[in-house]
Amino acid sequence: MSATHPRHGTSRDETADWQRGLREQFPLITAHPELAYLDSAATSQKPRAVLDAVQTYLTTSNANAGRGTYPWANRTTELVERTRQRVKEFLRDPDPRRSTVHFTSGTTDGLRSVARDWLAAYLTDGDEILVPFADHRANLDPWLEVRHLLADRGVEVRVRALPYQTASGDYDHRALDGVVGPRTRFVAVTHVHHVYGGDMNVHRVRAAVGPDVPICLDAAQSVGHLPVSVADPALDVDFVVFSGHKALALPGTGAVWARNARGPVFRPGGWQGTPNTVGVASLEAALDWLDAVGTDRVARWTGALTARLTEGLRRLAPYEVLGCQASLGAESGVPAAQRRHGIVTFRHRDIPSDDLGFILFSHGFMVRADSLCQAGATEQDGSVRVSLHVYNTVEEIDRLLSVLASLH
Ligand code: PMP
Repeated sequence: MSATHPRHGTSRDETADWQRGLREQFPLITAHPELAYLDSAATSQKPRAVLDAVQTYLTTSNANAGRGTYPWANRTTELVERTRQRVKEFLRDPDPRRSTVHFTSGTTDGLRSVARDWLAAYLTDGDEILVPFADHRANLDPWLEVRHLLADRGVEVRVRALPYQTASGDYDHRALDGVVGPRTRFVAVTHVHHVYGGDMNVHRVRAAVGPDVPICLDAAQSVGHLPVSVADPALDVDFVVFSGHKALALPGTGAVWARNARGPVFRPGGWQGTPNTVGVASLEAALDWLDAVGTDRVARWTGALTARLTEGLRRLAPYEVLGCQASLGAESGVPAAQRRHGIVTFRHRDIPSDDLGFILFSHGFMVRADSLCQAGATEQDGSVRVSLHVYNTVEEIDRLLSVLASLH
């Protein structure tokens, strides 16, 4: 008899069969058993259901959206509108009549759209915004651009840094109160950090700024990886911005979800042009696939692999795992390793990160090795990042650990 998995009541064998069945649905993964794709934080692989949806769309209804009056065009318009609703449903939007979904090419494009099309019109002279200086550059540059844009119009806005604790890899909620003031009008946060993999505890930011300040969430590393519910009181945010391509859809896809409650309604400006209809078809299929599989199960699987890798690395003396999260782990009662969501970043004491990346690829491991687009990072901040999705296996992690152990 097989042991029962303590956390979700299914046996280890059942979980392994479940995962094997899912992995088999990724053609690029199964075509290369000699390789291990460990770079899903950059972009995800695509299941057959997504590839099929793209093929079906292009071979049955390809047309422009919102323009024609013939069946292909109507079907395309329906697809785009249906997928807007699908995004709301996927995010468990409790009030879909009072929210907006705008398709983008990814998180960078989405954050820039929130900055340019909404924030720039929302701020007035003397306002302050809080933005993360240690997160992905995509979640810093657009806010700085707004400050410049407004300065050109004679509107002075102060940008303050969200306080950050490098040791824990989380925002420093104790220092937050010190930077929030009566003119704080907007906060940009990240849900899961793209280097440290930790959940950034957005509820603490909400608690610090109070109920009325709009919060924009960079959910690039959470949507598609773990349940992201805007109905959850712990995720009381006004914008959710994500990349479809990191959530199993095609490259060039993403979305902004905006709650039309605080401040003026988000309306992407200007002429929108032709939408990425093929991308939207892929996004609909990806969200269907993820909901059918269950993002909670995806998160448990990648969480278990992440914990295995983190614990394994801790036993290997030459390696340092970045963003230890020890303090948060102790506070929340959750072991530090289990707070990571599918991302582990580390360095070797003596081997430069880009060399380590080459060595790992010579053993078939595709990882990210550089300064990881982190705002403020320099060449010396290089590291190796392993990032996972549901197609990765225990065997891949163990093989990686044994190769890492052989490098002294
Ligand atoms: N934010 C975070 C946290 C990310 O990890 C990434 C991608 N690495 C981005 C934003 C940018 O996403 P995209 O490349 O899809 O624009």
